[in-house]
Amino acid sequence: MNIDEYQRVFAKINLDAVKENFKNIVKAINPDTRVLAVLKTDGYGHGAIPIARELENEDKLYGYALATSDEAFILRNSGIKKPLLILGYTFPNAYEELILKDISLTVFREDTLEQIAEECRRLSTTQYKYRAKIHIKLDTGMGRIGIMPDDSGLEFVKKALSYDELIVEGVFSHLAKADEKERTATDLQLKKFADFTDRIENELGYNIPLKHISNSAGIIEYPEANYDLVRAGIILYGLWPSDEVSKERVPLRSALSLYSQIVYIKEIERGTPISYGGTFVSDKKMTVATVTVGYGDGYPRMLSNKAYVLAGGVRCPILGRICMDQLMVDVTDATGVKEGDFVTLIGKDGTQEITMEELGELSGRFNYELACELGKRIPRVYSKNNEIIYKKDYSDDF
Ligand SMILES: *Cc1c(COP(=O)(O)O)cnc(C)c1O
Repeated sequence: MNIDEYQRVFAKINLDAVKENFKNIVKAINPDTRVLAVLKTDGYGHGAIPIARELENEDKLYGYALATSDEAFILRNSGIKKPLLILGYTFPNAYEELILKDISLTVFREDTLEQIAEECRRLSTTQYKYRAKIHIKLDTGMGRIGIMPDDSGLEFVKKALSYDELIVEGVFSHLAKADEKERTATDLQLKKFADFTDRIENELGYNIPLKHISNSAGIIEYPEANYDLVRAGIILYGLWPSDEVSKERVPLRSALSLYSQIVYIKEIERGTPISYGGTFVSDKKMTVATVTVGYGDGYPRMLSNKAYVLAGGVRCPILGRICMDQLMVDVTDATGVKEGDFVTLIGKDGTQEITMEELGELSGRFNYELACELGKRIPRVYSKNNEIIYKKDYSDDF
């Protein structure tokens, strides 16, 4: 497969890097802990399907976590057989398809238990009884969704266990500050989780099949909290949960690089304004290149007059406002660069590198958000052993 058709802008996702990150996660966790790979927002903008296919046969992979029912259907419909868990609230109109497709739901609201059970009864026949798999979400300090780790929470679990139609597969919680140096809040969350899951096992006599609380930062910083599953999101893609976590415990390689092309080069005189509003005016003669990417592709307009692209191994500053589909850069120091050359927006060129973290920071977003917002207008190409094995075009969505 060749990628000559990709000229304007494209993202290259290195599946070997994803696999390597996965293996390094496995090395860092307990031998009996498995990984729930978090593929929400189309795999943090990297592409959920190719990544799911890449990891599907890994021994230590338990399954995939998504944020919405549609994301889960996309994976199931693409042939993924592994367990799928929706991490957030699921709206009742999706219950039927979720039950039929054996997708696990997160529950924390009293009314959903009966609603899911009712859907199972409605689908069941005398020959086959449908049962839904659920994970109970516990709020140990995130303050988002989840039952409280107190007597009322225990009543909820007891009620969930009383339904024949429901299989309580797991109990889980989410860490709010595992990516911060200060450990007190996370230690308290972990204690609440341990105490409450103990209460379920001791007072209700139920052996929870799958307990999980660690996100990427938890995997790196709190090995004592591995439990049965860890939920690996950002680190799977080789990105860091924050700059406060250890960079040694789980070696990572970023999987995504982003390229665009120079389509026009000109010399400008001193005093020449560039782009909308003329927010940049040259203070000397310079060489300016026009590059075919813009905020319509998810390259943040906030990077106007702030970020760089790599051309010929040189950091070239962005001049003036980033437009919807184009931007201008100063290539005066990038000698030899010509029209038709590719530039690197994220990734390496020679000794230089621009990371998702750097652009996340400069744009006032952060790496997670920047990755998620890389637009669907950017084609994705997937490489393995330096060969392109799969691609996803803008037109594939229509
Ligand atoms: C998104 C999410 C994760 C993954 O977080 P990372 O920081 O990317 O590892 C894990 N658990 C829940 C509940 C989430 O919503």
